[in-house]
Amino acid sequence: MSSLHFPALPSPPSPEELTRFECPPTLFVFDFDGTLVDIAPTPDLVHFDPRVPHWLSQLYDAGPNGSRVMLCSGRSLRDLERYAPDGMDLIGSHGLEWRRGFAHEPWVAPEWWDWRKQMEPELRALIAEEGGSLEDKGVSLTVHFRSARHFWDTPEAEIVLRRLAGSTVNVLPGKLVWNLVARGQAPGMVEPEIMSKGESLVRYARAVGYSRVVYFGDEPTDETVFERDELEILGVKVGGGETAARFRVENVSEVHAWLSKLVDTWNAARGEWGVRRARG
Ligand SMILES: [Mg+2]
Repeated sequence: MSSLHFPALPSPPSPEELTRFECPPTLFVFDFDGTLVDIAPTPDLVHFDPRVPHWLSQLYDAGPNGSRVMLCSGRSLRDLERYAPDGMDLIGSHGLEWRRGFAHEPWVAPEWWDWRKQMEPELRALIAEEGGSLEDKGVSLTVHFRSARHFWDTPEAEIVLRRLAGSTVNVLPGKLVWNLVARGQAPGMVEPEIMSKGESLVRYARAVGYSRVVYFGDEPTDETVFERDELEILGVKVGGGETAARFRVENVSEVHAWLSKLVDTWNAARGEWGVRRARG
């Protein structure tokens, strides 16, 4: 789909503009599928451009001014870890899992596991009847329906899924997928809460002390980040479609170009700022 059908949005500020000496520390966050890699028919078939891990490996450590780069995805941490450098913080499973400073922090409400036992057979029977496939991500289930849109791409499918989900599970539409996601219960929470990339990222940014976030994402679940207003969020929508983001890039290649400039900018700034600090 071309973004020409939607209100034009400006290109994001350059890494140089966002990495000035006087800028506040910034969290640079990238969604994975559709943002760093092109969407593939199944998640395991993605083509991971070898330049991306090379760039990420130069960005996992704190950058100039304490800025940081991380990934935030609907994929499970276990899956995401195959693509991320050691030591990079991650948010996985639509916000339900963090990897922070090498430690895993899962927040799944225990009721999820009872729900799976009870309702998953019904969901599988529905897929057997209507087509599509089920991906088991542990703390979420994803119905892929690229080849079975006649049922799954309809309001009726959403009604059926919301009935199955009841009040226990969060139903999130994606790009030719439906996600059924456990609710979250972090330490100290009395009741489980609906978790999303946006909710989780705001909690994460506060926990590690960032007030400014630059976020690249391509799909409906990323809107939960773009819509937040508690922090300064510079949202960058990847590709066409309505969005609450302030900026847009056309495709994954443009994200790659931006990421590669971020690497150059950080490497240059590390040297230059080191000299400034040494001079006092
Ligand atoms: Mg995506």
